[in-house]
Amino acid sequence: MNGSVQARLDEFIRHKGLRRTAQREVIVKAVFSKDEHFSAEELFERVRMTCANTSRATVYRTLGLLVEAGLLREIDLGDDQTTYDPNFLDKPTHNHLVCIDCGRVVEFEDAQLGELTACVTQRLGFKPIRQALKIEATCEQLRNHGRCPNLIAARLSGKRLRKKR
Ligand SMILES: [Zn+2]
Ligand SMILES: [Zn+2]
Repeated sequence: MNGSVQARLDEFIRHKGLRRTAQREVIVKAVFSKDEHFSAEELFERVRMTCANTSRATVYRTLGLLVEAGLLREIDLGDDQTTYDPNFLDKPTHNHLVCIDCGRVVEFEDAQLGELTACVTQRLGFKPIRQALKIEATCEQLRNHGRCPNLIAARLSGKRLRKKR
């Protein structure tokens, strides 16, 4: 994990008059150990493997703190649950493409989107603070071959996929 994340969180926690706890540090480490998006429950399962006595409530509270501190972002991938994204510190303007068949998420950045955001907000008399685009799509694999390894993996791991409309 990037040392500055812990430093920024420590600063934030101190400001709020909270104390550093070992349990919270384990959770923060788990959040930033991978660049995967996750739900609170997925994180809870992951943390419990290394630290069996972690409570669900502590996981949820820590996620709340990280979001409040601006270190972690909540995103909506269209599957009726809150997804957490640890990648905005490294890629502050990244966007998501989501396959509605298999749930695969691809991150992308595009300078033209930034220009478009600047143009539109300026035209309307605003100043952009943050912007994220979500594109819902269908992947080629399933369309062309009727099979998609990611869909099989998603079903096996019990991932909830969005209902087709
Ligand atoms: Zn992301
Ligand atoms: Zn797909």
